[in-house]
Amino acid sequence: MSVRTRFAPSPTGYLHIGGARTALFNYLFARRHGGQYLLRIEDTDRQRSTQEAVQQILDSLEWLGLSPDEPPVFQSQREARHAEVARELLARGCAYLAYDTPEELAAMRAEAEAAKRPFKYDGSRWMTMDPKDAPSVAPAIRIKAPRADQAGGDTVVQDLVQGEVRVANTELDDMIILRSDGSPTYLHAVVVDDHDMGITHVIRGDDHLTNTFRQCMVYDAMGWHRPRFAHIPLIHGADGAKLSKRHGAVGALEFREQGFLPEAVCNYLMRLGWGHGDEEVIPRDRAIQLFDLDGVGRAASRMDYAKLLHLNGVYLRGAEDERLTREVLARLAKHGVAFGTLGAERVRALMPELKERAKTLEDLASSAAFAAVEGPPPMDPKAAALLTPEAKARLADLAQFLNDAPWERKDLEAWLRDYADVKGVKLGQVAQPLRIALSGSTQSPPIDAVLWALGRTEAMDRILAAAGE
Ligand code: GLU
Repeated sequence: MSVRTRFAPSPTGYLHIGGARTALFNYLFARRHGGQYLLRIEDTDRQRSTQEAVQQILDSLEWLGLSPDEPPVFQSQREARHAEVARELLARGCAYLAYDTPEELAAMRAEAEAAKRPFKYDGSRWMTMDPKDAPSVAPAIRIKAPRADQAGGDTVVQDLVQGEVRVANTELDDMIILRSDGSPTYLHAVVVDDHDMGITHVIRGDDHLTNTFRQCMVYDAMGWHRPRFAHIPLIHGADGAKLSKRHGAVGALEFREQGFLPEAVCNYLMRLGWGHGDEEVIPRDRAIQLFDLDGVGRAASRMDYAKLLHLNGVYLRGAEDERLTREVLARLAKHGVAFGTLGAERVRALMPELKERAKTLEDLASSAAFAAVEGPPPMDPKAAALLTPEAKARLADLAQFLNDAPWERKDLEAWLRDYADVKGVKLGQVAQPLRIALSGSTQSPPIDAVLWALGRTEAMDRILAAAGE
């Protein structure tokens, strides 16, 4: 049987980085085994689900390269099928109609609380009821939980990450599968959907582990083959607390906004809670070859933003210049930096140098802005302070000679050295004012590269402006 996995987010907010990792593990596992990876939007909570959140989830997955292999399934559109299965369980004698009113249920809960014992629904009075005695309230359908003496008294799950997990049947009660208003409950709907979608492996956060035992009741009662379960640990912040905004970015698209590359985010997330020796840089193809669930640890992992940043730098350096140029120009435009075709070409020409120094696309955009603009770039105040009368005189002098300089990158460096030699000054005394004039900052790619990328006319304009001429 071919492997089929699914990612099943609830569209009640943006896609969290933990959800992105769950999607990634589902994707990698399916690919590794030559199977399919599906998406189900769990939108049965009408109050909290929004169309905007659905769109955000789809956009996030697309950005991460984790779009599903088939069109997404919307859980809310399958209510008739959920109800059908609930009625089938009723017909098979695996479920029964329960006529409790909300008041009666509240009283049962209060009684358990007063006696300081956990609430466990006791449906014995309905299970044996004669239909003609049924009260006039609309009934819910409850599934019969396994009894204390059934199957060794425990419900057991062989989890692919957690190992064997078990719960005593006495802990399970007859849960509602179809409410009195005809709507299915969540735990029931998930099982029906996973079964109908042909899901073979359910890979999800370990916060769902306890739900699994209750979901098994539906599989077992229907005589359906249970899928394999793999409950992966959650992601925590560096301090061990549940990951939240105060630790840093948490929404998948926030990482895009901050200038992370999707492949770096995926590589980082894959390594979070899964390892392959010391191998750190694992591109998608290799990840598909290597990934398996037995490499997933049981302990919660901690988000390390510094590591992600480092990895992003590695991927930036390896990324194609054309792609980075497009990304950078889009960011500059968004930040209101005006540039034309020439500016765009200059950014492209400098990209091999610029990307060596950047950790994010945002860094890259801010370090490229000087090359994009027409005329003297905005001047960093610290750099401006270094433009002393002496430095300005040096620039004015240099401008006279630069007119005759050979405008090839490989010649410009030698030419600058010769100039410094002839003038009897250190190269730094020439390069620093020049760097400030051309880039508006004390930090830029190598000065010969900057000169060359700007072109003679643009470079001369900037030098003369800084010289005050
Ligand atoms: N909709 C659930 C969630 O967003 C996932 C349920 C599942 O994977 O079974 O946490």
